Amino acid sequence: MALARGLFYWEMSMKNIILLLSILMIIHYAYGECVHEETLLGSSLLDITDLDHQYMVEQNDGIYLPLGKVSINPLKVYHVQKIAKNHNRKLKGDFDQYNRDYLKYYRYHHVQKLMAAITPDFNQFGYETVIVGKSLEGRDLYSVRPKNLVPGKKTILMFGRHHGDEGTANWIIEGFLKQIINMNEKFHDEFQLILYPMVNPDGAEAGTRYNKNNRDLNRSWAYNLDQSYDEAKIIHSDLKNYLSGKKDIVIMLDMHGSFTDDFIYRVKRNYINPAFYEFQQNFIDELGALDSFQKGNFILSNGHPKMARIVMIKSYGLNALTHETPKNIKIQNSQNRSLLSLEDQGSAVLQAILRQY
Ligand SMILES: [Zn+2]
Repeated sequence: MALARGLFYWEMSMKNIILLLSILMIIHYAYGECVHEETLLGSSLLDITDLDHQYMVEQNDGIYLPLGKVSINPLKVYHVQKIAKNHNRKLKGDFDQYNRDYLKYYRYHHVQKLMAAITPDFNQFGYETVIVGKSLEGRDLYSVRPKNLVPGKKTILMFGRHHGDEGTANWIIEGFLKQIINMNEKFHDEFQLILYPMVNPDGAEAGTRYNKNNRDLNRSWAYNLDQSYDEAKIIHSDLKNYLSGKKDIVIMLDMHGSFTDDFIYRVKRNYINPAFYEFQQNFIDELGALDSFQKGNFILSNGHPKMARIVMIKSYGLNALTHETPKNIKIQNSQNRSLLSLEDQGSAVLQAILRQY
């Protein structure tokens, strides 16, 4: 009897713990994300009456179409990205209005200007700025990298703006680059950078997460190059050619914008092994100590198999992480956030890399 009661209490407390954890998870996922992702049965999708969100339904190969524009089979399971409609309205068409309320939106012409500005400095370090291809609407896809990749040098790989509407990521990249330009010879003897600053320029101009084909470019990478799509395929193929088998990349960072929080997306402890997890923790700790907004926050997520971060871990064995900072920051904010503080966050990323390596 005593044993039975004991088991009963144990079961109750386990239920409470699970309930509490579920509530915490819901709260957590409601705020700290790049996008809300759900897996839903078609019948539940057909029942949705939520007018505050747009539900984007995954088709083949990373293409997402609005619910209402696709036919739904009630018995099929769908992968869905859920985007708050008020978030979408922030950017729709009118960047001037946006810029009156939020930190300046980073557009395609900003990256063009940046490339022109940094090229002379980077040339001195043996780098070149190259156009590796064109977006679907004909915009340039840039890369900044050494003319000749030096074997044995610690290589940093960075991507920006897989998602067009996540403009703050590019201000962080600008801060990161300014810091690199200020580094001494010793740094340049030890480290080199391969950067693709704006993967999705068409989405950046349209103010949308997706590219011209409605593709989520961070769900469009694959181990097999033939199964990568659109701008992600051009960049993936360029990277593969450029690396030509060299594997001295010490860290890969994919720069994104979240709904509200600063954090890092990383894989769970046993995805690779505990040592890999601890190694990533080390970077997160270093960054957290240097960046007062980021503070060492992270979210465990083994991600979508065609996410750049996951492909880089799985097929290249890289220490790959996704860096998130809020994408819409009010000009008037209680944290004193500004374009300058975003640049400081970029500088902190470089300092954290230096501390780890
Ligand atoms: Zn993103």
